[in-house]
Amino acid sequence: MRFGIIGYMRTIRLFNTLTRRVEPVAPLERGVVKIYNCGPTIYSFAHIGNLRTFLFQDLLRRVFAQSGFDVRFCVNLTDVEDKIIRESQEDLPQDADNETRLKAMRDFTDRYEKLFLEDLNELRIQRPTYMPRATDYIPQMIALIEGLEARGLAYERDGSVYFRLSGFPDYGCLARLDRDGMKLGVSVDADEYDRDSLNDFVLWKGTKAGEPWWECKWGKGRPGWHIECSAMSLALFGEYLDIHTGGIDLVFPHHENEIAQSEGLFGHRWVSTWVHGEHLMVEGEKMSKSFGNFFTLRDLREKGVDPIVFRFAIQSNHYRKPYNFTFEGLNAAESALKRIRVFRRRMEDQNAPGGGGEFKELIAPMARIAQARIDFWDALCDDLNTPEALAALFTLITDINAQDDRILMTSEERSAALAFLDETNAIFAAWPHESNSLNQKAEAMIEARKTAKTNKNWAEADRIRDELKAMGIILEDRKDGSVIWHSQ
Ligand SMILES: [Zn+2]
Repeated sequence: MRFGIIGYMRTIRLFNTLTRRVEPVAPLERGVVKIYNCGPTIYSFAHIGNLRTFLFQDLLRRVFAQSGFDVRFCVNLTDVEDKIIRESQEDLPQDADNETRLKAMRDFTDRYEKLFLEDLNELRIQRPTYMPRATDYIPQMIALIEGLEARGLAYERDGSVYFRLSGFPDYGCLARLDRDGMKLGVSVDADEYDRDSLNDFVLWKGTKAGEPWWECKWGKGRPGWHIECSAMSLALFGEYLDIHTGGIDLVFPHHENEIAQSEGLFGHRWVSTWVHGEHLMVEGEKMSKSFGNFFTLRDLREKGVDPIVFRFAIQSNHYRKPYNFTFEGLNAAESALKRIRVFRRRMEDQNAPGGGGEFKELIAPMARIAQARIDFWDALCDDLNTPEALAALFTLITDINAQDDRILMTSEERSAALAFLDETNAIFAAWPHESNSLNQKAEAMIEARKTAKTNKNWAEADRIRDELKAMGIILEDRKDGSVIWHSQ
């Protein structure tokens, strides 16, 4: 085990949207935490509001992993829905066959999957343990809908299948809907709708002209958005999930519908803890293409913003508070980051320039470091309170900077400070850290393997694959010849 004490794990408390309370997370399987995160719809570049959600999910994962848990982390990719179909099919002739349509959709989403992975890399968001694509789980979705039908919770109409809300009295438990005040019994085909009525939402959409389809007992069609997550989660994690996350805008209807589908099928509680990240605003306004304040990571880079500064700015704010993105805020984040990096250099090299702090009192560095470490973890374990956690780190930096202009720290004290910086960086990933060099090394080895394969040097390609495996990196060869990797 990471801490040398077998079975040691921190208790992590999170705000559970289901109960509206901060509660300790107690995974069902000791030491293993299963987390399902609603991931991106891969039809365009992620905007910085989406990226905030993925950064919050990365934070959650890192806090559990660094607290002694074996984290099984799933981020799904939605690769079939209205907008994807519209955009991927528009150049095809009217009479294109289904195989051509499915391939066009796959090619279209493959492009955006790659761009999404690039964003993850640049932001040092760790690769998920599982990254399922919805279209790889169509049989599981059909089986789930059949199960709901067998329980009287789904019905077919004109080739589409709907969830029967009147059969699921718990509907609305997450969003706390006032069922009595709502209209009943409308069935809707749209994946997103307003909360003024209780809608029988769509599970399976009968095909329309010009759309790709899959065949099932209700005829040709495709899955609705909501069923995708229920089916992938069931396939990867079984009937019990410790944590399910997403952006706050997914609480209704998406997560409410996921609960109806999964719990309707299982007949028992499915997710113990629901966690939602708040919105991102831009200069005090809702981000929107029409306001001209819509940014992707590429837009930020073109404006000279370092992705890691963006990462740090987001992670410095509490995930449950709305974040107001401003370029001024990024400057502040950059200065704070610089302070940590300068301090780190000073701890590495006692001849580096002084901390420049004002001497007030003599401190005992080892005791201060120990205290900062306690405060840091207390804050993170209390609903991922990153502002408090960083405050613990900055207090330590201030205290030591005020000392070491006058008093040389011992090498033991320096090592302890550096170890604490590494420990904090395992969460924030914003000051030098070996995992980044691991990423670079892995990418270089994957390139070398590609070259070996091109030269038909299969033994060398296999040797590199095994070496990566020993480093904890698993390769997956895709049909189109590309390679994706994830850490074990
Ligand atoms: Zn979802």
